[in-house]
Amino acid sequence: MNVITSIPTKKVYYFPMHWEKTSIKPVLPPIERKMPRRPKKNRRMAKDEPKKLKLGHLSRKCLLMTCTQCGQHGHNKRSCTNSK
Ligand SMILES: [Zn+2]
Repeated sequence: MNVITSIPTKKVYYFPMHWEKTSIKPVLPPIERKMPRRPKKNRRMAKDEPKKLKLGHLSRKCLLMTCTQCGQHGHNKRSCTNSK
């Protein structure tokens, strides 16, 4: 019959004041080094570079707005002042 018995722990080892002093120098923390990282996958886009558009879509940038109410440029039907 096997009986699992816990190993008795000596509480003395938990506290540094009970530790025996040795001639070995204290262990210093490791020197912090900047590790090389994997380069970013995405390419940095230029400021004036157009954003990726969906297929079949065109950029509306630089598109001249034309009012359907009066036919003038620079505003649209919503902000038209010549209505009625
Ligand atoms: Zn208008």
